[in-house]
Amino acid sequence: MSLVTALMWFRRDLRLTDNPALLDAAASGGVLGLFVLDPLLWGRSGDPRREYLAASLRSLSDSMGGRLVVRRGDPAVVVPAVAEEIGASSVHISADYAPYGQKRDEEVEAALRCPLVRTGSPYAVAPGRIRNQQGRPYQVFTPYFRAWLAHGWRPPVAAADVTWVEAASEKLPVGSIEAGEAVALERWRSYDPAGYEDERDRPDLDSTSRMSIPLKYGEIHPRTMLAGLESEAYRRELAWREFCADLLARHPHAAWQPLRPEFERMQYDEPGELFDAWCAGRTGFPFVDAGMRQLAETGFMHNRVRMVVASFLVKDLHVHWKYGARWFMRSLRDGDLASNALNWQWVAGCGADAAPYFRIFNPVGQGLKFDPDGAYVRRWIPELRHLDGKTAHEPWKYDAPGYPTPVVDHAEARREALRRYDAIRS
Ligand code: FAD
Repeated sequence: MSLVTALMWFRRDLRLTDNPALLDAAASGGVLGLFVLDPLLWGRSGDPRREYLAASLRSLSDSMGGRLVVRRGDPAVVVPAVAEEIGASSVHISADYAPYGQKRDEEVEAALRCPLVRTGSPYAVAPGRIRNQQGRPYQVFTPYFRAWLAHGWRPPVAAADVTWVEAASEKLPVGSIEAGEAVALERWRSYDPAGYEDERDRPDLDSTSRMSIPLKYGEIHPRTMLAGLESEAYRRELAWREFCADLLARHPHAAWQPLRPEFERMQYDEPGELFDAWCAGRTGFPFVDAGMRQLAETGFMHNRVRMVVASFLVKDLHVHWKYGARWFMRSLRDGDLASNALNWQWVAGCGADAAPYFRIFNPVGQGLKFDPDGAYVRRWIPELRHLDGKTAHEPWKYDAPGYPTPVVDHAEARREALRRYDAIRS
């Protein structure tokens, strides 16, 4: 064993390449790689995230020759205990900017007898860095994006040459799906963003990158993706991810409460049968139901459809966005507190850079526009497979046994949403 041992505490950075924190840890000697299964986070995640995390940890451990140490428990207890056990000279992490992660890291730091070294973050530009000329953070995306591009980011760092130190590990959780750094790198290398700008809104074409899942677990760093990336449209989406993280770091309450205070007075309905129909993909609106069924079956949903189902919940069913956000966090494999909450707020009209509340998606019109041949709807709703082309978007005009009739009248629901909005403006 090397004389000096550092502890690398993996969290949202389950990779060995382009990992500055690991590079730092390896600079001093041997490294023990630790992942703490925190019962609080594990309990809050739904099966899709738990399954993926388990598979990703297995893959990480394999790439370390099976030497990843997994321990269950409160990180504020486990990390200092392991550090003591191996006589660690330092503990290395990449910084976490989400509310729970920040608090957890402060508690761990206070309990450690050696330094906790934060190097890098899951973002190309760490939250808090991008400021306007007056030194203030941006509230609106487009100027943030311009400043983010002008600020730039570091090139990817080399892979660390690590001498892994061994210690007793608990059993890794079981996960059999395909995951891990090598899969993420391969997916990114084989993805061609050339048609991204024109096709990204078409769920039937399935032309987006699906990189949100590896990004969520840090199997790849956005820096690696940005290096040599020519698509401005794709860079913009990566910047949205960073803008969401920046906003949440500054406004931790935005995880579940509206950024615009007047929305505290908004009248919502309690989630009841209509909410259940939404979760089950049985609202009678094919584009909405297809999205919710894709989510239930795969743990993923296309971005355009996420916007439409979110709008439908808030503005057609008049249910508070936090219930939808919670359902998404439980069901999505890429469920990420910042991206999820801020996108929900954007759709609900109460976010920093919100779509105006009065702009209400027509769930049928959106389907006809972005799934013009009905292929996406037929893929996820077997009851509509006999309906040709775009007729699948208006099944009430045809015979569709087993498929529900629309649970609301969209025009009426829209008027009611606007009435409630007017009430909080006066
Ligand atoms: P691509 O179109 O290939 O985009 C590339 C990358 O850019 C994505 O992987 C993602 O990291 C980032 N990105 C793209 N769009 C957005 C966006 N609007 N906001 C933030 N980042 C973006 N994304 C999550 O990663 N986790 C979530 O929990 C999440 N919840 C969402 C909830 C709602 C209501 C909405 C409208 C969007 C949500 N998104 C979330 C953003 C977006 O839908 C997904 O990132 C995207 O669909 C993932 O598919 P992709 O990787 O193929 O995306």
